[in-house]
Amino acid sequence: MNLLLPKIRSSLFRTLIVFCFFALNGCGINPPHEKGAFKKGELVEIVKMDTSIHLDIRYATGNNFAGRPVYNQARAFLQKPAAEALVRVNNELKDLGYGLTVFDGYRPWSVTKLFWDITPEENKKFVANPKNGSRHNRGCAVDLTLYELATGKEVAMPGDYDEMSERSYPDYTGGTTEQRRLRDLLRSKMEANGFTVYNVEWWHFDYGDWKSYRIENISFEDIKQTVKNGEK
Ligand SMILES: [Zn+2]
Repeated sequence: MNLLLPKIRSSLFRTLIVFCFFALNGCGINPPHEKGAFKKGELVEIVKMDTSIHLDIRYATGNNFAGRPVYNQARAFLQKPAAEALVRVNNELKDLGYGLTVFDGYRPWSVTKLFWDITPEENKKFVANPKNGSRHNRGCAVDLTLYELATGKEVAMPGDYDEMSERSYPDYTGGTTEQRRLRDLLRSKMEANGFTVYNVEWWHFDYGDWKSYRIENISFEDIKQTVKNGEK
């Protein structure tokens, strides 16, 4: 019996190690580890680049599909080249009487994981799989709409932000002519400045070289530090 005890102990220890490994990695508590060369990211706050870009950060409120705030702060960040392109879009829209209202930009990986976990199977196409991360996690995706310069109000689009239905498709043919015109106007200006629309969400756009940036899990509160490091 005495001889068996160390064997049992060692086998228990091994089980514990394996369990911890899967708990931390296999089950996806940590962001995926990506190999390869990446650009040094520089997340910048969108409103600091252009104060006429509005924010409607619904993930910092209860008004979102999670039904509760998932951000502590109502802020939006993008990698600098993407933010600069967004400023160009906003300028081009001004002549037409519109501006941009941003719902979301950079999103920490932990929030992508949360969205995945709470979304039922049939709607998973509307959320990113945390195993691969989201382009939002790389600071290269932005969710946004238009506001009217005259009133400051968000325009009506064929479907609502984060609505999980066919009305979210950028080629959805329902809604009013005016709603489709505005949706297509947003898309054409974004595409002319290096963004690509997501094929099931009229509000989601990816910036050109998103693959060059790493998946990040840094909180909004800590981003300042990152930018400082980037500035040397
Ligand atoms: Zn998005």
